[in-house]
Amino acid sequence: MTTSPIHAYLTDLHARHALNASGNVADYIPELAYANPEWFGICIATRDGVVYEAGDTRQPFTIQSASKPLTYGLALADCGEDAVLRKVGVEPSGDAFNAISLQPQTGAPLNPLINAGAIATCGLVRGESADEKLGRILETFGRYAGRELDVDERVYASESATGHRNRAIGWMLRGFGILSDEPTATLETYFHQCAIRVTCRDLAIMGATLANGGVNPVTGERAIDAAYVDHVLSVMATCGMYDFSGEWLYQTGLPAKSGVGGGILAVQPARLGIGVFSPRLDEHGNSARGIAVCRELAADLGLHLFDVSGRPAPAIRMATTRRSVASSRRRPPEAADHLRAFGSRLRLYHAQGSLVFASVEPLIRDIMERAESADCFILNLKSVESLDGATARLLAQTHSTLEPLGKSLLFSEASTWWESLIAAGAPRSAFFADDDFALEYGENGLLERRFPGRTWDTPATLAECALFAGFDADALATLDRMLEHRNYGPGQTMIAAGHSSNELFVILRGSAMVSIPTRNGVTRLAAFAPGMSFGEIAFIDRAPRTANVTAIDAVACRVLTHEMLSRLEREASLLKIRLLENVALGMTSLIRQADAELAALR
Ligand code: GLN
Repeated sequence: MTTSPIHAYLTDLHARHALNASGNVADYIPELAYANPEWFGICIATRDGVVYEAGDTRQPFTIQSASKPLTYGLALADCGEDAVLRKVGVEPSGDAFNAISLQPQTGAPLNPLINAGAIATCGLVRGESADEKLGRILETFGRYAGRELDVDERVYASESATGHRNRAIGWMLRGFGILSDEPTATLETYFHQCAIRVTCRDLAIMGATLANGGVNPVTGERAIDAAYVDHVLSVMATCGMYDFSGEWLYQTGLPAKSGVGGGILAVQPARLGIGVFSPRLDEHGNSARGIAVCRELAADLGLHLFDVSGRPAPAIRMATTRRSVASSRRRPPEAADHLRAFGSRLRLYHAQGSLVFASVEPLIRDIMERAESADCFILNLKSVESLDGATARLLAQTHSTLEPLGKSLLFSEASTWWESLIAAGAPRSAFFADDDFALEYGENGLLERRFPGRTWDTPATLAECALFAGFDADALATLDRMLEHRNYGPGQTMIAAGHSSNELFVILRGSAMVSIPTRNGVTRLAAFAPGMSFGEIAFIDRAPRTANVTAIDAVACRVLTHEMLSRLEREASLLKIRLLENVALGMTSLIRQADAELAALR
């Protein structure tokens, strides 16, 4: 397989930064000093689970402080936002990671990513025993990484034996009542948490999990409730790099967290996770190569959070009207004429991508600007990738704003977005399986406004059928004797796809539908009412039928076969010519309509 240019880019980036030997391996935790200073890995994981790696991406090391945002997420889920905020703030401290930064009055640590805040956060994790807490932390981290993780016991023992400063912080937190129990157990949980073994690849996938709203994109498993992801990313953005956080955000624009083991976990929200590992640290305790690599990655790939050059895709992929796109219900001439003339009063939009306030606002603006000149708006949601709560509420409100004006907003192919729109107050009656049914509903509304109370599906006489236009009474009588009279019950098959038949149908009573089977049932291609004919194509070219036709209700029809046509040729050849002219006219108008629809869809 040829190398992807993305992989080649990472390999080159890796080779260049491998020359950077600045900084020193941490040794205040004695066991960390054994790390090979040359270890160096770079890994990017996309939101859909594709992983690009260069260098030592599978080398285990201890997660250290990169654990802190993940445990913070767990505490939020365990205790709720309010309870956590009472104990730990969310202000950047501007201090070093091991500073004793506590709120002077309350003793609450300024944020959960400095040691004081992380120890307090550890105290909030649910669990009867220290073992249970650690078990839950390991399990959660494992979900983020997509594999079972363990603790490096040597690093743990080494930190536990020397972590006097953290112990002091723990006792201070106890003094202020931020920790409710004697702090020893919580400190051991904290030391264990920091000694969890990960790889650079794990960090990237953990980041991708956060980028993906809390679901690990490789395993599909949820690691954290979506409701807490933005809180976790916020503290990473403002406090993740300690007293370097402001400069970091300014330069890279990526929420991130470093650890003294040499790892950096960075996130481009909604897009990527990045893991970099190199044990030599700068004066802030952040991986020196890691910082430089992230800075370059962010600049090269345009990852900065506040980069406004890449505008989001507009929500409207296509906007058209009934002038160009019609339902497949064939209409009697009078109805068809009216729908053609007033087709612009029925508007169809296809939405796409992520529907958020900024992308959906132009759509709502367009609808409201046309609320006078149009009667019905159809919004197709098939290509929508996400739809947030604010959008669901705005769309439901657009529906209820239009309703008293006698106008409607209909949703077609809403699939999974159906539930949030209903929850936001959209009525079930506004949802349609596809554009065809929504358009038919909208067309019926247009017809009802113009011809109140009129029913269109009343039985037709032969003279009213387009196929027999221009035939005099004698001719019609001849035909009626010759044509086969046939009836079908509701749901009965009139034409079966794949079969060959030489029959052309004219409906006099009831209605019939053309459909093809699709993944989720059947798709209607056309619906016919009395006076209309169908089956012309295979009748003319004699190839097998391409779709099914079934009776919707009780159908009475006339059937024309090739044999009859030959008889007509012998006995009344002018009638045959007339008849075929009418067939050609009917097909021509269908082709015209199909052309207009294609043009609109392009
Ligand atoms: N376990 C380390 C400590 O508390 C974590 C610090 C870090 O990674 N910045 O000192």
